[in-house]
This record gives sequence, C-alpha cells and structure tokens, in this order.
Amino acid sequence: MAPMDRPLTGQTIRVTAALVVLDSGTVVPNGSVIVHGGQVVEVDAAEAHKKIAADITIRLPGHVLHPGFVNVHAHLELSYMKGRLAPKAPFADWIRRLIALRAKTKPGAVVRHAMLGANRLVRTGCCAVADVTQTGWAIPALAALGLRGVIFHEVIGFNPDLAREKLSDLAQRMEEGGKLGGMLLHGAAPHAVYSTSGELIKSSAEMAHALGAPLSVHLAETAEEETFSTKGTGPLAELLKDMGSYNRLWIPKARPLKVLQKQDALAGALLAHCNHVSAEDITAMKKAGAAVAYCPGSNQWFGRTGPHPLMSIIAKGIPVGLGTDSLASNGDLDMRREMRLLMEKFGDITVAEAFYMATEGGAKALGMGKDAGTLRPGAPFDATAIKLSIGRNGGPFARIIGSKSGYVRTWVAANPVTL
Ligand SMILES: [Zn+2]
Repeated sequence: MAPMDRPLTGQTIRVTAALVVLDSGTVVPNGSVIVHGGQVVEVDAAEAHKKIAADITIRLPGHVLHPGFVNVHAHLELSYMKGRLAPKAPFADWIRRLIALRAKTKPGAVVRHAMLGANRLVRTGCCAVADVTQTGWAIPALAALGLRGVIFHEVIGFNPDLAREKLSDLAQRMEEGGKLGGMLLHGAAPHAVYSTSGELIKSSAEMAHALGAPLSVHLAETAEEETFSTKGTGPLAELLKDMGSYNRLWIPKARPLKVLQKQDALAGALLAHCNHVSAEDITAMKKAGAAVAYCPGSNQWFGRTGPHPLMSIIAKGIPVGLGTDSLASNGDLDMRREMRLLMEKFGDITVAEAFYMATEGGAKALGMGKDAGTLRPGAPFDATAIKLSIGRNGGPFARIIGSKSGYVRTWVAANPVTL
C-alpha cells in the first residue's frame, strides 16, 4: 500500500470504481465515494464529484467497490485444525477429537494459522469479524491488522463451583484485550448450555450487560444439545462423564433457550447456529432483542441436511448474519461461499438478500450501529474492492457472490488494511 493512500485526520478521500455497491438495494455504475473522517460523506456517479477537491483520489477502473463482509461467527484460533478433523462425524465425537488435537498443539502454530485465517478473511472481502476465543493468543495480531471485530472471550465449565473463578478470569481477559487497541470490541461468550453451568452463564451475561459489552452463546446447534439439556442423557452426557465433569444435579432440565432465559442471558445476545429452535423460541428471541449467527458451511460440513428454521427467524424480524464458524468444521473462511451455500439450501433467498445478510444484516446482528455494513452516507468506510466485470452472466450481486478471485483493496474506517 502506497503511503499516499493512508488517510490522515481531516483528509478527504475520493474512491472511484466501475461499480459502487451502496447496499443490497443500490448500485452506482462509474461511481465515486467521498470519504472524510473515516466515514462515507457522499456517493454519486463519478461525474457528479468531479469538482470536489479530495486530498487523495484512488481510481479503481474495472473494479467493484462494496461494503466489506461481516463474518458474525468465527474461531480464528482453531484455523490450524483445517483438514485435521473428520467431517460428518457425530458432534460429541468431533468435540472429543478437537480437545485431543488442541492438547498437543503449541501456541506458535495456533497464532500463525489464526493470522493466515485473518488474512483469508481480508482476501475474501471481509471487513469485520466476530471471533470467539478461549486463548486470546491471536488478539495482538488482529488488533495490528486493523480489521473491525468483536472478540468474544469464551468461558466454559459445567461445574458450578468453578463459576466464580472462571468469571474473574473472563473479566481479566476482557480487560487485557481492551488494552490491545485496534478496531476491536471485547465481549463475553459463555460457550453453550451443555458445557457451561447455569451459574457461569448467568454471571458472565450479567457482567457483559453491566459493561455494555456484547454477549454470544452457541444455541441449539444439535438435537443432542436438547436431549442433554432436558434429560441429562445422550452423547453429550457421555462426553461430560468421560471428562469427569458430569453431575446429575447440574443438568438444567429445561430446553436450551429456556436455560438462557432463566439465566438472564438471552437479552441482546448473539445466538450462534439456532439449528433446532421452535416457533415459541423464535418469539422469545425476538422479544429479547437477540440476533442470530447462521453458519451454512459449518452445517454442511457436519452433514446437517434437515430443515432449518431460518426463514421463520428472518420473517420474525430478528437480525441474522452469516458466519463461517471455524476451520475445524468448515473448509474455508470465504463469506461468498457461505452465501452460495445459503442460497443452495434456501431457494427463496435472492442474491441481494444473501448479500444483505453478509453485510448490513451481519452488522445489525453485531450491533455495529446505523448504516454499518453499507456505503451509505454516514456509514464507516469499511469497504473492499475486487476486479470484476459486471454485465455478463447475471447482475452485480450474482457476480460478486459467484466470484472466487481475491480482493485487492480493503479499508476499515478508511484506513487501508494491508497484509
Ligand atoms: Zn462456534
């Protein structure tokens, strides 16, 4: 990246491209975006902006410029597991293998692959990521890279006696993470109702709410989760028994969503997966202002071919974004592939709707603020550009989603993201 491209405070930047996508409803051929103070000030046909004096002009002929994708559920620290766990394995077996592999991996390898994962996000058009982490090892590198993100610090532990200690560890991790700077917010992620005690779910949610920090939970990912949560039986119970973490008295004896409700952990939460939520659950989610991270590639990887309540969730008006999940349960971190898989599964979803979910919808699910995930005036200039000829083989959204080549330029709050 040439030093001239680096915006200084107060500078006005003009970016022109063969096609500027404002949002899933508006595209401007031969467009120009005027950026000041990290935000989009104006978007119009390039002709209309000829007289605006910009400090920097960046011309991208033959390129499409669009709002960067927002990946709402990832675990970059698991990137080293790519290709090392068997797909379509039963969920509890997959967890067993994941734990075994993690136990013999060194921090250096974890960080190196996490950064390769973050680079892959940038190369595939991402400007923001919600990254769930237990170690925090990749945060310094992510902060330096300049991607926008929410770091969800994960806590796990089914023994309620450990809740207090785990909570204080979480508080410390969130505080330390905050000192690393970058474009990152720090939130809490009690892992799931089959791995995390009601006490720890409650206290970590309470802490997130008190700090005004984001909260995320894996919810209703598998049918086994509900069997465990209601009856304390099934493969997840066997897993906890083998780990020495099972006690019949700790079983919530309620459906997963009811557990979150009971522990005051549903309000404003980002719920990952929601593969097995009922109509009643969806009503409660809407009422609580929860959002959903839907992960098409992860579901395909696990061989989950059954129906999914996604259309009911969308119809209810719940914010939904797309997530790649991790490379322990997906083949890539490319949001365009997630959109393609989404449309394969749900024939009613249009290319523009898929693009919406991968940009503005994801930004809403992460509570990123008005106009985030778009290039409308007032939005942060989180944008990405790809060389792409539009006009043949479908409209702009179909071409973007169908493209497989790399993105060449990316900005977050108008700062260039360089790899
Ligand atoms: Zn996950």
